[in-house]
Amino acid sequence: MKLTFMGTGTSQGVPVIAGGKSALDLSNPRNWRMRCCAHLEAGGKHIQIDAGPEFRLQCLQNSIDWIDFFILTHGHADHIAGMDDLRRFCDRMEGNILPVYSNDYGMERVRAMFPYAMLGRPTERGYPCFDLKPMPEMMEVSDRLKVYSESLPHGPIRTLGLVFETKRKKVAYFTDCKMLTPRAYELAANADIVAIDCLRPEPHPSHMCVDEAIAAAEKIGAAQSYFIHTTTRIDYGVWEPKMPPRCHLAYDGLVAEI
Ligand SMILES: [Zn+2]
Ligand SMILES: [Zn+2]
Repeated sequence: MKLTFMGTGTSQGVPVIAGGKSALDLSNPRNWRMRCCAHLEAGGKHIQIDAGPEFRLQCLQNSIDWIDFFILTHGHADHIAGMDDLRRFCDRMEGNILPVYSNDYGMERVRAMFPYAMLGRPTERGYPCFDLKPMPEMMEVSDRLKVYSESLPHGPIRTLGLVFETKRKKVAYFTDCKMLTPRAYELAANADIVAIDCLRPEPHPSHMCVDEAIAAAEKIGAAQSYFIHTTTRIDYGVWEPKMPPRCHLAYDGLVAEI
């Protein structure tokens, strides 16, 4: 399994527009973070998780050239805004339709933002076309890959926590959540790689802060835990050395392979 962290920044990206003076060391490329999304290769499949505003650049920079299916964790703009650029992957699919899975709020936002992609076939050649479906709690993609989902609290809405399992390996991806549920911990048990929301040092009503993310990572006890969706308050050079064993800050372009 291979997890590519295509973007690891918070909803505004890092640094922010007109952010003024900040303690962030902008000479460190790991402090330049695009909106969160990830690409997973598992069980012979290519799965894209989320597509924010920089999705096209992220695909080019990470040489993403094929997607078997797309999972939208939730309908916030920093995860959905780049979905029009899935058109290139639709073009390459049989029937030009890309399977897209999400939760209720995600599906509502996809229908509202991309009605022209919901017609069962491309409006015109080169347009995106989505086969939009609710993400099941367990999806047996093949005898080599199962995908589990768990609804996680994210302020007033819910987000999809995701766990990908092959015969011998497991990857969990928990972005944009205030906490993990007992079932999420159960699903992530013995994971090889876990990605966890870790917004900033101070607590936040709809995201995990540094202490909460570390506590969740330690409770899961994965071989490697990576923290994502970080703000300008997290300087890579300052915070990475403070991380406990087997915990790391993710950065754009990082590849975790098991
Ligand atoms: Zn987000
Ligand atoms: Zn969100």
